[in-house]
Amino acid sequence: EAEVVLVGRSNVGKSTLMRELTGHSFDTGKKPGVTRSPNHYDWSAEDFVLTDLPGFGFMSGVEGDRQEDIKTGIVHYLEDNAEKILVAILVVDGKSVIDIIDRHSDGEEIPYDVEMFHFLRELDIPTVVAVNKMDKVDDRDERLNELCDRLGILPPWKQWQETIAPITAKRGQLSALNEAVRTHLHDQQRDDLF
Ligand code: GDP
Repeated sequence: EAEVVLVGRSNVGKSTLMRELTGHSFDTGKKPGVTRSPNHYDWSAEDFVLTDLPGFGFMSGVEGDRQEDIKTGIVHYLEDNAEKILVAILVVDGKSVIDIIDRHSDGEEIPYDVEMFHFLRELDIPTVVAVNKMDKVDDRDERLNELCDRLGILPPWKQWQETIAPITAKRGQLSALNEAVRTHLHDQQRDDLF
């Protein structure tokens, strides 16, 4: 079955986004590490399932080994299901994403969000970066341009509206994401015709 996946570090607002997209309520503020295996839900408006992959990255109170297991699980899930995944939504926190990426860029470590973005591209999975919590960001264009730079795509972000989608999930402001996802879905349907 056609599938859209959601990936993102803990606390970026994935549960909030899931709730807004599906109309179901999800357990926000759950204990870190009490993570779920992939969960499937119907996306009310569209004809595919939405899969929530467990939160990853820094999880306080979760041992390093366990974090690695979760990450490996996500990687395998994406590899095994790449064929049927229509779109991946990589959720980041617009307020902190640049700081987090830069903090982990010490030449050896590749920051998780950047790594995941490239990994999804390698698998040929169309990817939308949902930049959440934009209500907390003042210098919107500057922040989004910086994010392009860190992800290795050429600013300005406005050129990448199929890839960079600023949202405020908490207030249900998701139009940029809806449009980006729709564009990818339609691209693929068009491809199928030929
Ligand atoms: P998850 O761990 O990725 O599932 O994140 P949650 O959905 O549990 O959200 C983590 C925190 O971020 C909660 O306190 C949410 O209320 C908050 N949050 C989610 N979306 C937004 C948003 O658009 N703006 C702001 N300011 N906070 C948000």
